[in-house]
Amino acid sequence: MERIICVGINIPTSERAVELAEKYPNIYASAGIHPNDCAEAEIPDNWEKILSDMLAHPKVVAVGETGLDYYWDDAPPSKQKKFLQAHLDLAQSFDLPVVIHNRDADQDVLTQLISHPHAKGVMHCWSAPWEIARPLIEKGFHISFTGSVTFKKNLLVQEVARQMPLDRLLLETDSPFLTPTPYRNIKPNEPKYIPVIAEFIANLRGITVDDLAQATTRNADILFQL
Ligand SMILES: [Zn+2]
Repeated sequence: MERIICVGINIPTSERAVELAEKYPNIYASAGIHPNDCAEAEIPDNWEKILSDMLAHPKVVAVGETGLDYYWDDAPPSKQKKFLQAHLDLAQSFDLPVVIHNRDADQDVLTQLISHPHAKGVMHCWSAPWEIARPLIEKGFHISFTGSVTFKKNLLVQEVARQMPLDRLLLETDSPFLTPTPYRNIKPNEPKYIPVIAEFIANLRGITVDDLAQATTRNADILFQL
């Protein structure tokens, strides 16, 4: 692992990610408002302007997290969809990729991303079956796996990791949870466990860890223009 993209989930954490990116040469940032955070009282009316100022920063390489989350009841779907649309439009105007969060919202996420003319980016913490992955890959999206791919019962996700094109595959931490097997009970999850995920997916695909690592680094370089 050579470089890290630190992901914001609201305005304060996005600002914190930018601060880290300014301090460390090998850290980059993303800025966005997570679907679970979009109904918070502290989101100011001018949040798009605030995000835009951050997105103009040379070390901010993505917009997000954004997306849809129907697992938690933190924000109504209509509001989440509005925020997702606004993030997709911001990403288009800054020519940046989006980091998409999807939890229990497969069909709605798919519909909204496919219908946006210029949506590109990464489906983070992939959790859906192949029939959802395929159209997103055709649209140009990358798919990113966390430690959850290593969990024994996660066969649908493993199937996607096995058969998707290698040049769209990414790895991520997604702290504090989802530490890969056999470290599953350790919290917080940390970037140091990424090689464990790499080894698992390399085994699934029948390739060497080196080949997988080279591919995922190159994929991130291209997608985020590092
Ligand atoms: Zn997420």
